[in-house]
Amino acid sequence: MSDGKTYEMMWDCGACGTQKLLAMTHKHCPSCGSPQDPNWRFFPPEDEKVAVEDHSFVGKDLVCDACGSPCSAQATFCPSCGADLAGASAALTREDQLADDGAAFSVDDADAAREEHKQRRKAERAAKIAVHEPPPEAGSKKGLVFGVLGAGALMAFVVCLGVFFFWQKDVSLVNTGHAWSRTIQIEELKTVTKSAWQDEVPRKGKVVSCTSEKRSTQKVADGEECKTRRKDNGDGTFSEKKECKPKYKSKPVYDDKCKYKIDEWVASRKAKAAGKSYKDAPSWPDVRLKKKGSCVGCEREGDRSETYTLTFKDSGSGETLSCDGSLKKWKQVKPKTKWKGSVRVVGGGGLDCDGLKPL
Ligand SMILES: [Zn+2]
Ligand SMILES: [Zn+2]
Repeated sequence: MSDGKTYEMMWDCGACGTQKLLAMTHKHCPSCGSPQDPNWRFFPPEDEKVAVEDHSFVGKDLVCDACGSPCSAQATFCPSCGADLAGASAALTREDQLADDGAAFSVDDADAAREEHKQRRKAERAAKIAVHEPPPEAGSKKGLVFGVLGAGALMAFVVCLGVFFFWQKDVSLVNTGHAWSRTIQIEELKTVTKSAWQDEVPRKGKVVSCTSEKRSTQKVADGEECKTRRKDNGDGTFSEKKECKPKYKSKPVYDDKCKYKIDEWVASRKAKAAGKSYKDAPSWPDVRLKKKGSCVGCEREGDRSETYTLTFKDSGSGETLSCDGSLKKWKQVKPKTKWKGSVRVVGGGGLDCDGLKPL
C-alpha cells in the first residue's frame, strides 16, 4: 500500500488507564479486557515505534455499533460480540504528522490525542442538547430583507444618476458674447541627460557613464526540502514516508545602467492669440522661431489647440450660459441672434454649442 515503512499506532485504555497499548495487536486492553476505542489512537514517540513487518492493508477498521470494538475491514461480524458489521462506520484517523528532515516528531501527540478525545466527547454531548432547540431561521430572513433593500437603493442611485445626466429641457437663448483662443506649442531641440539599461540606450544617445545595478531576479535550484510524513492508516498502523521537493532561491541579476546624452525636441514655450468679440476674427498667433533647423537651440512648431466660446442669456431664467464648440458654429451664431438649445434640468449646465438651432 505504501512505499514507506509501517508501524503500530498506540492507544490508551480509557477504562483502566493503561497507556501506550499497540493499536493493531491489542484490540482489547491486556490489563482489563475493555475494547480499544480507535478514537484514542495516537502516533507514538519516535523511540517507542514498533515496526509491523509485511503489513497488508485491507482498509480502515470498522467500529462495532454494539460494543465499540475496532474490527478488521474484512470482518462481517464483530469478533468480540458477534454483531453484524454491515453499516458500521470506519475508525476515525489522526491528522497526518509532518516533521522537517532530521527533526523529531512532536512528543506531545499522546496528550493532544487525549485532549482531542475530550473535546469531541464534549461536542457530542452539546450536539445532543442542541437537537431540542428550534433552528435559528430569523437571521436568514432578515438577510433577505436587507438584500432586497440594498438592491432597491442601488437601483434608485442609478436612476438618479441617469436623471442628472440625461434629463434635459429646452431653453430659448439670446447671444451675448463671442470669445476665442488659439495656441501653438513651440519646441526647442535640447541636449538632455537620460538613463537606461545599456541595451535600451537609443542609437543616437551618447553614453556618459554606466554603473552596475540590480535589474531583475532569477529563480535558481537550491537543493531539495524534505519532510517525513506519518499517515494514520486507520487499521491500528501508520506509514512513515520521506517526501522531498525541489527548493529554489532567487538570485539578483545585475546589468549596466547608463547615463547618456541625447538631443530631443522639448516643449519650451507657447505662442498664444485670443479675441473677445465676433468682429475679432480668429487667427493663429505670429510665431517667431529663434533659429530654424535641427541644431541644438533651434525651434519648431509643435501641437496646435483652439477654443471657440459662445455666451448666451437664457430668455426664461435670465441666467448666463456658455459653451465651447466648433469654429463653424461660432461664425454661424451672429451677435444678438436667438437660438434654441437644451440644458440639464437638475443642476443646469451641459449646453451643447453645436446642437443649437435657430429660433
Ligand atoms: Zn484497560
Ligand atoms: Zn462488537
